[in-house]
Amino acid sequence: MSENCLFCKIAKGTIPSKKVYEDEDFFAFHDINPAAPVHLLLIPKRHIVSMHDVQADDAPWLGKMMALAPRLAAENGCRPGAEGGFRVVVNTGSDGGQEIAHLHFHIIGGERPWHKRA
Ligand code: ADP
Repeated sequence: MSENCLFCKIAKGTIPSKKVYEDEDFFAFHDINPAAPVHLLLIPKRHIVSMHDVQADDAPWLGKMMALAPRLAAENGCRPGAEGGFRVVVNTGSDGGQEIAHLHFHIIGGERPWHKRA
């Protein structure tokens, strides 16, 4: 928990969110400004700023986080299988467009990807 971190406060429940999932280590909720019909944010409860801070020994919990993404996508309206799908976006640092300094996966779906729109 970091004192002034918005996503730490959301994970703790002191700032409200539209929660879709919670366990001992992770919390997921609807993005307040969705970029697509499905737009979730998945965060670790531990405060870690970004992918810049990830070390080799973070692999176990990071692997669990990655494995949660398809489950949450399917449970929240993304079509399963090769015909369906979703995007995972991890903005990292200022040049990566990261606004909130707490590692998060954007899980985005429910529309044709931008590179396939006709
Ligand atoms: P960007 O805004 O460029 O996507 P980030 O990758 O840091 O930068 O994403 C932060 C995300 O957090 C944004 O999609 C934003 O809409 C979302 N957000 C900000 N505040 C809240 C909140 N209180 N509840 C839910 N989502 C939020």
